[in-house]
Amino acid sequence: MSTTETSRAGRPRSVAFIGLGIMGGPMAANLVRAGHEVTGHNRSRAAVDRLAAAGGHGAGSVAEAVTDAEVVITMLPADTEVTEVVLGEGGVLAHIRPGTLLIDMSTVSPRTAVELAEAGRERGVRVLDAPVSGGEAGAVEAVLSIMVGGEAVDFEEASPLFHALGRTIVHVGPNGAGQTVKAANQLIVAANIQALAEAVVFLEKAGADLPAALTVLGGGLAGSAVLNRKKDSMIGRDFAPGFRIDLHHKDLGILTDSARDTGAVLPVASLVTQLLASCRANGDGGLDHSALLRGVERLSGRERSE
Ligand code: NAD
Repeated sequence: MSTTETSRAGRPRSVAFIGLGIMGGPMAANLVRAGHEVTGHNRSRAAVDRLAAAGGHGAGSVAEAVTDAEVVITMLPADTEVTEVVLGEGGVLAHIRPGTLLIDMSTVSPRTAVELAEAGRERGVRVLDAPVSGGEAGAVEAVLSIMVGGEAVDFEEASPLFHALGRTIVHVGPNGAGQTVKAANQLIVAANIQALAEAVVFLEKAGADLPAALTVLGGGLAGSAVLNRKKDSMIGRDFAPGFRIDLHHKDLGILTDSARDTGAVLPVASLVTQLLASCRANGDGGLDHSALLRGVERLSGRERSE
């Protein structure tokens, strides 16, 4: 590793990484690449073997992964799994050393983030919520946006690790603030995908040249990261995840709950939540969120992607 790379990576840390799925797998591999000692655990063994092949170590349990770690990162599907893995019997807090830094990078509710931080504090463990945006490609390419809630001093300590995973890294406030910002992110992304899906169906019904139309739209005010990243999957009707509709539906549940708590009225959020629910009810929950297109096609009496 060159001197520049070493200073950006900070000193090598021993990191336990729990949850090696679509996002966690490449993120853990990027930490290995940046020179950190990474021990990974996942419910299914194949993901652990992939990390070992990338130069990490595999652990058969949460306890084995976290006991000697300086930093523990969780990247799990939702609140239930995070709560079980962190607070449950045999979980992270039962085995972690006081002084360790616990960073939950999953998307969960701000309330869960605050609960984790309080439970950590009782054990002398520092906790950050650090959800990400950028999708699978952002995880693979280490260009994620990372929105971080917690103490500034802990954010500073974790920064070299975040820089091995992402490009836009911002401390946005106290514990839970990262998850609040992520909920807003998920509204913007879902509304953008829905608008793009409606434009695609409109353009095709009108007989427009879809690839040409999306190319020119991408250069104007309608251009967006969503259009860049999702247009090919929409043109080709390739809905392999990516980010599953089930998970985006979970995230808009977090948003609408938080909006109710804060008194924010979000009509588009409610509508897109219902459209995601409709996709799930039609059996599309395991597809990428760009499959919102299939919902628009169903509404328009058009089932091209069946
Ligand atoms: P995923 O389902 O691919 O990965 C989750 C991993 O956790 C799986 O490998 C699963 O086996 C493992 N797991 C579940 N329960 C476990 C347990 N009790 N112990 C150990 N391992 C367990 O999900 P993902 O797409 O990687 O998403 C992870 C988180 O990141 C979610 O909160 C999601 O909302 C968020 N996120 C995903 C994306 C994306 O594009 N996929 C983007 C940004 C944020």
